[in-house]
Amino acid sequence: MSGTEAIVTVFRGPHQPDTEIAAKLQALETLLSEAAKEFADLRLASSLAAEDNVLFDVVQRLGLNIKTFTLETGRLNAETLAVLPALQARYGKAPEAVKPVAAAVEQYVNAHGADAFYESIDLRKACCDVRKVEPLNRALRGAQAWITGQRRAQAATRKELPVRENDDARGITKFNPLSDWSEADIWTYIRRFDVPVNALHFQGYPSIGCEPCTRAVTLGEDIRAGRWWWEDPANKECGLHAGNINRASSLQSPLKSA
Ligand code: SF4
Repeated sequence: MSGTEAIVTVFRGPHQPDTEIAAKLQALETLLSEAAKEFADLRLASSLAAEDNVLFDVVQRLGLNIKTFTLETGRLNAETLAVLPALQARYGKAPEAVKPVAAAVEQYVNAHGADAFYESIDLRKACCDVRKVEPLNRALRGAQAWITGQRRAQAATRKELPVRENDDARGITKFNPLSDWSEADIWTYIRRFDVPVNALHFQGYPSIGCEPCTRAVTLGEDIRAGRWWWEDPANKECGLHAGNINRASSLQSPLKSA
């Protein structure tokens, strides 16, 4: 699906007939159920976006023993934060909010300024390290495996995204169970199971991150065009999914692919 089609999907709301996602839904439920049996400590990383709320809904519906957390970076939109109480009201539980180390944030802000991420890729990555990567590493400490809501269609860096991979940096297994799901599949699920969603999805935000680093996109733009929009699309990841950058780099480099 092109970026244009994806945005049309979000705004106009067409969706797949239920029968068309039945096979994918069954595969998703089987994968999560078997992963929960295989790994006693399996964790779901949620950005509180549509894909992650789909996964959270499956986990709750099936009563799976999968702990869910979200990275509360301190720079999220109010609409994103509002998803937490919405999930709590719907399921009686919500992802645990994992926050950055206050002293590390203070050090970054004092040294560079609160919005220094606009000035260079290094300063942007340094901010993501403090607000996202370190908290993620902390949230995954002791886990045997983790789950993300990434999809192949979301970005140039995700075209080769496998359903299951080794997270080499942490020495654990990583699942991307929505890897082959389309935007339409996600919204079909959301309607069918009445899943709470981030209001920003209806304001032109198919992909949602921190408030100052995410903007709405327009028709014809890629799904993740609004994330760090001032940077090269081939390298736009925040460090949470280092394997994506490595896979994308190996595809682009004739030296590495030789
Ligand atoms: S997305 Fe932006 S505000 Fe959020 S951690 Fe990364 S650089 Fe900082």
